[in-house]
Amino acid sequence: MTYLEREQGFLIVLSGPSGAGKNTIVNELRKRLDGISYSVSVTTRPPGQGEIDGVHYDFITCDEFREMQKAGELLEWATVYGNLYGTPRKFIEIMTARGYDVILDIDIQGAKQIKNSWPAGIFVFLMPPSMSELRRRICVRGRDSEDAIDIRSRLAWDELQAVFDYDYVIINNNLDEAVDNLRAIITAERSKVRRCNLLGFIGNLKGQPCNFSG
Ligand code: 5GP
Repeated sequence: MTYLEREQGFLIVLSGPSGAGKNTIVNELRKRLDGISYSVSVTTRPPGQGEIDGVHYDFITCDEFREMQKAGELLEWATVYGNLYGTPRKFIEIMTARGYDVILDIDIQGAKQIKNSWPAGIFVFLMPPSMSELRRRICVRGRDSEDAIDIRSRLAWDELQAVFDYDYVIINNNLDEAVDNLRAIITAERSKVRRCNLLGFIGNLKGQPCNFSG
């Protein structure tokens, strides 16, 4: 059974502190697993070096963000590190209806909102192997000022406490293993009987001849 034989895809909510490696893991996962779509968030944060509008985020103004909020176009939203971030609802509805599983890289406040509005999602928390490695990763990507790095490192500790609200945890010690773990989680979830359109499949089997002559 392939993902396209399911009537509805599901949401994979990936959270974890800044620097845990969510971005890298999502990019790698999409190369290794079919049927995955990525939800591009809207944000009022300015683009960092190398970030492309429409690919990494849709970079919008505060007014545009407020308009989307008012029109009910955001499935969830939150203020994170002083900027607004949100998940456009329409894309998710369209892609899941086509049978794609949609991955969301969002913070713990957003994940909580999705849990209420879209409980069939799966919730995965990405842990850094250590706090010093976390800070190192934030530093080497070269996107944040010293102050921003301090804020992100300080808030990481609080964010880690949210892991108990998630279904799965992955420790990102090694990129290859972490991606494999995420792929295994999604593959197992795809095989859940309640997610599959089995009546049609079994009906098909019933009509097939059973005349093995070996
Ligand atoms: P960054 O500025 O490092 O790209 O993202 C900062 C944080 O915002 C990350 O933890 C990321 O997961 C989170 N984030 C990104 N997009 C969204 C979104 O649409 N909603 C929420 N709630 N958080 C988001």
